[in-house]
Parts: sequence; C-alpha cells; structure tokens
Amino acid sequence: MRRTSPSFRCRRTWAALLVLGWAALTGRTGAAEAGLDPVVLQLKWLHQFQFAGYYAAQAQGYYRAAGLDVRLREAVPGQDPTDAVLDGRANFGVGTSELLLRRKAGAPVVVLATIYQHSALVLLARHEPGLDDLQALSNRPMMIEPLSAELFAYFKYEGIDPKKLHLQDHTFDVRDLISGRVTAMSGYSTDEPFQLKQAHLDFLTFTPRAGGIDFYGDNLFTTEKELHDHPARVEAFRRASLRGWEYAMAHREEMVDLILRSYSTRKSRAHLMFEAEHTAALMHPELIEIGHTNPGRWRHIADTYAELGMLPAAYPLDGFLYDPNAPPDLTWLYWSLAGATLLAIGALGWALPLVRLNRRLRQQIAGRERAEAQLRAAVAAAEQANQAKSQFLAMISHEIRTPMNGVIGMTSLLLDSPLSDRQRDWAETIRLCGGSLLTVINDTLDFSKIESGRLELDSQPFSLRGCLAGACEVVAGRAAEKQLTLGWQADPAVPDTWRGDGARLRQILLNLLGNAVKFTDRGEVALTVLRGGDPSELAFAVRDTGIGISPDVQPRLFQSFAQADASIARRYGGTGLGLAISKRLCELMGGRIWIESQEGQGSTFRFTVRLERAEASDLPPAPAATGAPAPEAFRPCEILLAEDNAVNRTIALHMLERMGYRADLAGNGREVLAALDRKAYDVILMDVQMPELDGLETARTLGRRGGPRPWIIALTAQAMPGDREACLAAGMDDYLVKPLTSDALAAALVRVGVRA
Ligand code: ADP
Repeated sequence: MRRTSPSFRCRRTWAALLVLGWAALTGRTGAAEAGLDPVVLQLKWLHQFQFAGYYAAQAQGYYRAAGLDVRLREAVPGQDPTDAVLDGRANFGVGTSELLLRRKAGAPVVVLATIYQHSALVLLARHEPGLDDLQALSNRPMMIEPLSAELFAYFKYEGIDPKKLHLQDHTFDVRDLISGRVTAMSGYSTDEPFQLKQAHLDFLTFTPRAGGIDFYGDNLFTTEKELHDHPARVEAFRRASLRGWEYAMAHREEMVDLILRSYSTRKSRAHLMFEAEHTAALMHPELIEIGHTNPGRWRHIADTYAELGMLPAAYPLDGFLYDPNAPPDLTWLYWSLAGATLLAIGALGWALPLVRLNRRLRQQIAGRERAEAQLRAAVAAAEQANQAKSQFLAMISHEIRTPMNGVIGMTSLLLDSPLSDRQRDWAETIRLCGGSLLTVINDTLDFSKIESGRLELDSQPFSLRGCLAGACEVVAGRAAEKQLTLGWQADPAVPDTWRGDGARLRQILLNLLGNAVKFTDRGEVALTVLRGGDPSELAFAVRDTGIGISPDVQPRLFQSFAQADASIARRYGGTGLGLAISKRLCELMGGRIWIESQEGQGSTFRFTVRLERAEASDLPPAPAATGAPAPEAFRPCEILLAEDNAVNRTIALHMLERMGYRADLAGNGREVLAALDRKAYDVILMDVQMPELDGLETARTLGRRGGPRPWIIALTAQAMPGDREACLAAGMDDYLVKPLTSDALAAALVRVGVRA
C-alpha cells in the first residue's frame, strides 16, 4: 500500500504513538466506567482530513451515543494497516479496493461502507514538452506505489504494458518530482498537488477515471469474524461513522481546526483545506449518500483486476460486501431451533416414562378414589345400620321394660300380700330373675349408647359418701347371703360433695362390687376411696378375697363380652359387658381403670375419675330412705295418674296407696286435659306413650294454656339418650324410668315438695 516507505520520519511517529497511547489509556479508563464497548479503528495513514468523518463522529459523541469507545489508530510505518484488522489489533479499518485482492488471498475482509466514491490515486507527472500523455511517459523514470492496480490498468487501457514501465521505489517525497529525479509519481489528488502547487511546479494529473477505470477510494471494512460475533456493534459503528462523515463534510473548516487542535499539525491549515475540498470532489456528498456501495462498481473493479491477471475472471463477491438491509442472519436461530428440537426429543425421551408413570399414578388415584367412595358408602351404610341397631335397641328396651314393669311391680304387690313361705320363695325368685333381666337390658342399652358415642354425662351435685353407701347397700343382701364382710371407707381428706354424674359413678361401683361379691365365696369385699393425684381426682379401689383372675386373662377383661372363661359364665352368669361399660364410663369421667389380681387370692379393681367440687348447700334434699315412707310424711295432695296400660296402672296405684295417696286415672292426654278442666291437681304422673294424645304433647298443651298447672312427672319406658331432655323440653318437671320402683316414686314426690 501507499505510504509504507522506510523513509518515514520515526521521531514524529513515536511521539504521535505516545500521545495516542496516553489518550487511549486515559480515554479507555473513563469509557470502561461508562460501560462503553471498546473498539479500534485502524486508519490507513497518519492523521489528516482523509479521516475527518471519524474525528467528527468522535468529537460529536456519535460513537459514545452508539455505546462505543472508539480508538482511532494511526498507521504504523512499515506495516500494512489491513493486517492490524486481520490479526485482531483493530476491529475496523480504512481500506481501498485492494481489499478485493486480500480477500482473494484468503483474508476474510468485508467492506462495510464506501466513503470515497472515486479513488484519489493519480499519476502526477512533470509537464514538460512532449510529455503530454501516458505513452510519452511510459519510458521515463517514475515512482508508482505497490498495488496501484488502477494505475496499471490505466496504462494497460492506453496500450502500455505495465511490466515495461521504468519504475523506481517510491520515496513518497514530492521533492523527487519537483527536482526532476523522477518524471512521474503516484500520489493522491487530495494531497500532493497542494505541495506541487506550492512549489510552483507545472504538472499534469493522470487519473485512471479518464480511461474508464473508476475504482472506489477509501472504504470502511471489518472482518467476517467481527461481523459474525458482533453484528450489532458493527452496524452501530458503521452508522456512527457515516453520521460523522456527514457532519465532517458539512463542517469542513471546523474539521480542519479539530485536526490541527487534536490530531496533527503535520499539515498546514491551507493544506488540510485543500485536502478537504478535493475529498469532497471524490465523495460527492451532495449527490451520493455517504457510504453507498454499488455492487456493480465492485464487479467492475474485480474485472479490472482480472484483466491485469491479479484476480481470476468473474471473481465472486459473495460475502465481501456488507448489506445493512440484508435480512438478519438466522443461522443461529436455525441452529437454536435444531438444538431446541433435539432437546425436546431428548426431553420427550426422558418425559415419556414420566408420562407413563403419571398415567399409572392417575389410574391408581382413580382406583383409590373408587375405593374411598366405596368405603364412604360402606361407612354410611354402617352408620345407618348402627342407627337402626340403636333404634331397635330402644324399641326392644321399651318393649321389654313395659312387661318387666308388670312382672317386677306385680311381684312386689304379690310379696306385699299374705303368702305361704313357699309362695313367698317363688315370688322372690321371680323378682330376682326380673331384676337380672333388667340388668341385662340396662347393660345392653348402656353399651349401645356408649358405642354410638351418645352417652352423655349428667352434672349434678351429689354426696360421695351417700353414693358409696348406696352402692354397698344394693349388694349388701347378696354379700350377707354369702357371709362376706362388706364395707366401705372414704379417706377423711376426701370432700363429700361433688358435681358430676353420681348415677354413673354408682353404676361403676355397682358393677365392681357386684362382681366382687359374685366371685368371692369367703372373706370380704371392701370399697375405699382416696384423693387422687390432683384435687379433682378421686381414686377408688374395690378389693375382694375371691377367685382372682389369671394374668393371661387380665388384659382382655375390659373388652366387651369378655369373661375369664366359659365355665365362669355358666357358673356365675353375666353378659361380659359390665367391665367394658365401667372402663368407658371411667374414661368419660376423665379417669382410667385397671386390675391387680392373683389367682386364688382375690382381686382389686382400681379406677379414677375427675369431678368438680361442689358445696353441701348445692345438694338436693336427701331422698327418702329405702322402703316406703310413712304415709304421714306426705301432705295430702291431688294426684292424676295418666297411664294407658292396665298393669302399670295397678302397680302405680298400689305404690301410691302404700304411701297414703289415692289418684284419679286418665287413659290418654285428652282425658288428662278433660280431668284438669274438672278439677285442680297437684301432680300428674304421666306416661309418655299414650294413644290419641301422648304425654309430651299433653305437657306442651298445658304449657301453652298458661296459668298455674300441676307438677308433671314423666313415667317412661324409653331410656334412650335424649328422652329425659325431650320430656323436660315438653314442659314436664321430672322423669322416672320404668319399671317403676316405690323408692324412685317416693323420691320424685319428695322432689315435688309434697312431703310435709
Ligand atoms: P360379667 O360379670 O357380666 O360377666 P364383667 O365385664 O363385669 O361381666 O366381668 C367380666 C369377667 O371378668 C367376668 O365374667 C369374670 O370372669 C371376670 N371378673 C370380673 N370381676 C371379677 C372379680 N372380682 N373376681 C374374679 N373375676 C372377675
């Protein structure tokens, strides 16, 4: 290329390089802070107007606006500036048409924009007589810089064989032409003519254009790699540079000042202005858009090179010219798509087992849901069956209790009548069997209530010692029969008054005491109560000296229907429900039950319950002592007995009679209302299940009537949960369960307050 002469003035170059290096160093630091992308533009020569557009882009901030920190690198003497771009020291370069030859030689250069529409390369010749054309000059000494293909082509065009020219090494010193050492030299129309004019040399300018050889001048180029790796950066740099050129050509004087101020004083102001003018002539900015590249002209350049034997004929230009409007290179996209497809296939291969697993899981879930639905249906059916069982039990219990009321009640009447000893014995046996049957019914009912979770505990104040004594009293007869010592003892530290379900506590005690008496033939049965672990806890123990229980049987004793062995059931009777019920009741009362026993030595059943403390004043008046109260204990009162069952009527009337009362009778609710219209009664003993108008409805009707009404005591064989509540809710005042006993009836009358 031009200007690679060894006569280049080194000192200036080094000074310039130092300045550039410093500028680059300081500029780079600031740019890096600003986050700009650093790039280097390799100039083709030393700083001069030839590169004005790039200075303008730098000075006007076009590069910075494009995100670029551009360093403008002067050419280094002895080095081809194109190499700097090819080996990566610069990203962009200022080149000429010669790039086509470099590309042919394997350099992957790409022309980004054409800056000079025409080449500035000319042949400058001394204008001497007889030297008017190229033919005349051809045998004169001349300096033509290497790779000046357009000039050689021009010679060729004029019929001159370039090989026959008298060429000398180019000194790049116009003085050689001025002095006449050479007749002609290649130069730039924008540069040397100024010096020649200054030297007042008469000279001729031969431009290849005159021979139809119109090469492009300076262009902006990069490498395929840069374009591939940083397409956006390339486009940004190209745009900013062209913008700079537009500015430079519109402000030529300003550019000259800028060069002198910031880049180089190598050339005078006049020299730079000359350069600017002639540059404009080669660029035609007023006619042609700066940067415009015509592929046809490049074809022409390639063909010219081909004619000179420097390029093969029809050398392809593919990839050599950058097309800013070309559709984006989608190769990466295709590759990405191909990659994504491969990945998708891979993922599919990986996902297929998952899909299968998913399907299997779904099937399993569906199976489980089916099973769950079946289970729910089964549970619902079981609940229904359980409800049906409870209803059946309630019904059976009612149906059995009613005749049992008759059996037990009538036996009592019988026992009250004069009987022979044998007859009395038989009657006693009937009453005992009736009692046993009633226990079975009660146990079954309790168990069913507990199992269905429908057993609710009462919360009433009661006397603990009264409860202990009452329970012992029940079994006292049987204990006495077996000549057992029976006794109870409460730790004096244990308070007497508690709030809770005294009846259920008594039921537990009766179970345990009953068993103790049942399974003890000699010795004693003792009931004790102590304080528990905390103030609300009571600890009970029922100890006997009976047959005891083997260790292997003990763990299942509290299960329902469990008995030590079949022979025991045969010998002692029982349902095997008592302990199971006792255990549930203990748990409902916040305690537990357990056993300590040695076979042949006896057993101790221990249990705890939790109760609330109550005051003695909370206790209801003490019930009448066992046995019929003395008639004089009751003040006279009017009683209406509403009962449809004749047997029950007889029993109740007899009991009342023994207490000194007589009662009027009603067979159903209507008769009750009619009787009340006729007479004022103090107490109604009202059966719940009656024809026409039942006891509940009758009570409600009385409530609706308002005004003073008699005290209503319900008599019912219904002992299922909620029965008591239903009676009270209907407006009744008390509740007695059949079979009716004299004690219970007397106590109820005491509660009414009819006792004198
Ligand atoms: P039941 O007494 O009606 O059979 P329980 O549940 O009350 O039912 O008792 C279950 C079984 O536990 C009894 O059949 C008996 O084998 C055994 N058992 C209970 N208490 C005692 C005791 N004090 N001494 C010996 N065995 C007992």
